[in-house]
Amino acid sequence: MDSRKGIIEEFDYLERILLHFDEGIRIINEEEGPVEEGIVDFLRNPSVRLSVQFPVIMDNDSIKIFKGYRVQHYKLYEPTKGGIRYSPDVTLDVITALSMDMTLKCRVADLPFGGAKGGVICDPKKLSPKELERVTRRYTYEIMPIIGPDTDVPAPDIGTSSREMGIIYDTYKMLNPKAPYASAVVTGKPLSLGGSKGRKEATAQGGAYVLEEAVRQRHIKGLSSLKDASVIVQGFGNVGFHISNILQMDYGSKIVGISDSKGGIYNPKGLDARKVLKYKNDEENERRSVIGYEGLMSLPTNEFLTKDCDVLVPSAKETEITGSIANDVRAKVVLELANGPTTNRADAILEEKEICLLPDILANTGGVTVSYFEWLQNKEGNTWELETINDKLRHRMANAYNDVKSTANLHGVTNREAACVLALSRALQIIKDRGIFP
Ligand code: NAD
Repeated sequence: MDSRKGIIEEFDYLERILLHFDEGIRIINEEEGPVEEGIVDFLRNPSVRLSVQFPVIMDNDSIKIFKGYRVQHYKLYEPTKGGIRYSPDVTLDVITALSMDMTLKCRVADLPFGGAKGGVICDPKKLSPKELERVTRRYTYEIMPIIGPDTDVPAPDIGTSSREMGIIYDTYKMLNPKAPYASAVVTGKPLSLGGSKGRKEATAQGGAYVLEEAVRQRHIKGLSSLKDASVIVQGFGNVGFHISNILQMDYGSKIVGISDSKGGIYNPKGLDARKVLKYKNDEENERRSVIGYEGLMSLPTNEFLTKDCDVLVPSAKETEITGSIANDVRAKVVLELANGPTTNRADAILEEKEICLLPDILANTGGVTVSYFEWLQNKEGNTWELETINDKLRHRMANAYNDVKSTANLHGVTNREAACVLALSRALQIIKDRGIFP
C-alpha cells in the first residue's frame, strides 16, 4: 500500500473501498447465499492496470519525466468510464480505488459502463497552459492502446477540465482520423467539440436532486425543506462552486461556509457563491483563495467542518472527514460529492449520531450520468437541450436514490452499505448472465 502523506489517515483509500466491497459481499452472502470465491477475487481486482512514464519538454527547454496510470476495473460492461486526475497525490493505489468506485457508481446509476480511472502525478497549478497541453497530449498517446469510444472513455476529475478533455479528443482524432464517433472517446468536452449542455454542473446538480429527494421523503431527521437550510461546502472547484450556486439559487438555501485548499470561511448570515468565486479568481487576489472574502478569517479544517449547519457537502478530496471530526459534526445530512471523503470510523460515528449520509457512489453519480448523455449524443450525432438533460438527470437520480433506500430497508443496513450491496448485486447478475469465457 502507498503511504503518501495525506492519503492515509486511519487507513488508506484503497483499503477503505475494499472494506466496503467486503461488507457488501458479506451482506449478499448472508441474505442471498454465498458468492463464488473466484468471482469475489475477480471483483476485488482491476482487469487492466496500465502504468506509463513519458518525457515532456518544459517551457524552459528542460525535459521532465511524468508518471501516469489508466486502470480499468470492470470490463464486463464496455466502454469503461472514469475521470482523469492531475495531482501530486496520484498513486496507482488511489487510481485503482477510484476505478472500483466508478464500477460501483455505474451500477448504482444503472449505466451501461464499467469502471475506470486515470491520472498523472503532477501539480497542474505549477504547469503553464502549454506545458499542461503537452502533458495531456503525451499522456493520451501513452494510454491510446486502451481507450476508445467503445472501449474506455475518460472524463474530467480533480485538476482537469473541459480544456484537457478537448485536447484528449483532438489527440485521439489526429491519430485515428477514420475512427467513427471519435468525439465519444472522451466526455466533459467543450460544447464546440460535442460536449453536453449541463455537464460541468452535472455532479453538483445530480447531488442536489438526491438531496431534494431525501428531504421530500422526510428521510433527514430535523430537515423538512432546503429553503433557508444552512450549508457548508468543503472545496470550491467545479463541484463545490456549482453545488453552492445551485442550492443557493434554485433551492433558496443559505451557504454559510466555503473552503478551498488554503482554508475555509464561515458566515452564519450567508455567502453569495458567485461573489465568492469572483473574489477567489480576481487577479489582485494573490492567494487565489476564498480566504479574506468580506474580511473573513480562515478557519482550520476541523473547526470549519464542525461549524453549525444543516447540510455538509464535502466536495474536495478523500478521507477529509475523520473520526475526530465526525464526533463534532453538527450537520443533519452529509452529501458526499467528493469521492471517499468520509473514513470508515467517521461513517460509524455519523450513523451513531443519526446524521443522514448520502454516500458518494450514489450522490456524485450526476457527473457520470451526464457523461453518459454526452456519449449518447455523440453517438447519435445529436444535441439535447439543457431542460431535457436535467429532466432525465432528475429522474435517474431519484430512481437511484429510491433503489438504494429500498435496498437499505430490505436488508436493514446503512445507505452506504445499501449502495454497495445494490451495485455488487447488479455486477454479479451481469457476470451470471454473461457467463465466463471460454
Ligand atoms: P477541482 O479540482 O475542480 O476542485 C477541487 C477543490 O478542492 C479545489 O477548490 C481545491 O482548492 C479544493 N481542496 C483541495 N484540498 C482541499 C482541502 N483539504 N480542503 C478544502 N478544499 C480543498 O475538482 P472537482 O472536479 O470539483 O472534484 C472535487 C471532488 O469531487 C473530487 O473528490 C472528485 O473526485 C469528485 N468528483 C468530481 C466529479 C466531476 O464531475 N468533476 C464527479 C464525481 C466526483
